[in-house]
Amino acid sequence: PEAITVQELANRMAERGGEVVKTLMKLGVMATINQTIDADTAELVVSEFGHNVQRVSDEDIEMGLQGTADTESALRPRPPVVTVMGHVDHGKTSLLDALRSTDIVAGEAGGITQHIGAYQIVVEGGSKITFIDTPGHAAFTEMRARGADVTDLVILVVAADDGIKDQTVEAINHAKAAGVPIVVAINKVDKPEADPQRVMTELLQYELVPEAMGGDIICVPVSAISREGIDDLVESLLLQAELLEFKANPDRNASGVVVEARLEQGRGSVATVLIQRGTLRVGDIFVTGSESGRVRALLNDRGDKVEQAGPSEPVEVLGLNGTPEAGDDFVVVEDDARAREVADFRAEKKRRSQLASATSGRGSLEQMMD
Ligand code: GDP
Ligand code: MG
Repeated sequence: PEAITVQELANRMAERGGEVVKTLMKLGVMATINQTIDADTAELVVSEFGHNVQRVSDEDIEMGLQGTADTESALRPRPPVVTVMGHVDHGKTSLLDALRSTDIVAGEAGGITQHIGAYQIVVEGGSKITFIDTPGHAAFTEMRARGADVTDLVILVVAADDGIKDQTVEAINHAKAAGVPIVVAINKVDKPEADPQRVMTELLQYELVPEAMGGDIICVPVSAISREGIDDLVESLLLQAELLEFKANPDRNASGVVVEARLEQGRGSVATVLIQRGTLRVGDIFVTGSESGRVRALLNDRGDKVEQAGPSEPVEVLGLNGTPEAGDDFVVVEDDARAREVADFRAEKKRRSQLASATSGRGSLEQMMD
């Protein structure tokens, strides 16, 4: 059981320490200001003062939210989650489009696609790959800044006619800092002035040694326009994923990360959630950032209603009480009371830190991607 010092309890209630000592004496407990009392006694004191008993520490409130760790035997392979990064105009958007069109399922449906900030493709042979395509790369930079690493692999796009530029270097640094493996897509090889060899040589300066030069960095020459090399790129991603053995337990309450969230007319708050473990189902109660809710509907990246979503699946969630932020966690909890407790606590904490930072001034997050 939790213990707390008399002084700390007094601080949390904004009461004088001496008053707390006196109240304890009334309850038959002799304790000085620096001594600890147990949680039950503390609760009694709090109600004596006429305050509501509340769990107040981060540890208390967040404890157990993510549940227990998964045993090795519960883990199942899951698709890799891939983010495309690189310098502006080097072809990130075009490459994501080219990759998306390798989806054999969307191909059949005529390629009708929704933009929800992430999508999953199924390639020949049945393997799946999830791509994060949030504009502004909130997916990577913001989420990382907020401690949520969602990406398993980074495709570093470098235009073969332009070489490594500022934002390429930033992307390399971000990937390295996050410990995320890089696969290099040397793009625009259809252009007459393309020089893939130069790109590979430039990579050496950043300690990325291409396989062709004896290292372990896969470099794939591609053209997002002519589609040359796209299948090779997909194969390389699957190869990397196989080597790294990405796994998760699908048989537990879902948890994941918000990739995008917005307030939509007629639909209310909508969030795209990347499920990281467990399986999310319609009806589940959840907390996300300082919001909570109950899943009213789930939609996949084609806009189809689905009943559930498992590890590495991006899914649009309806039924939120408010709009969370990209990078917020998303955790299924046992009941409404627990969801509200966590959400309220976090909202209060956020309010306080906003008050605190309002005076100190705060730098804006670097915008490295378009
Ligand atoms: P982003 O800023 O990194 O998202 O780059 P875009 O995908 O918007 O591409 C920037 C420009 O490069 C556009 O005019 C694209 O048509 C062009 N582009 C992208 N990929 C290729 C390619 O493989 N070959 C050629 N020739 N042009 C490309
Ligand atoms: Mg773009």
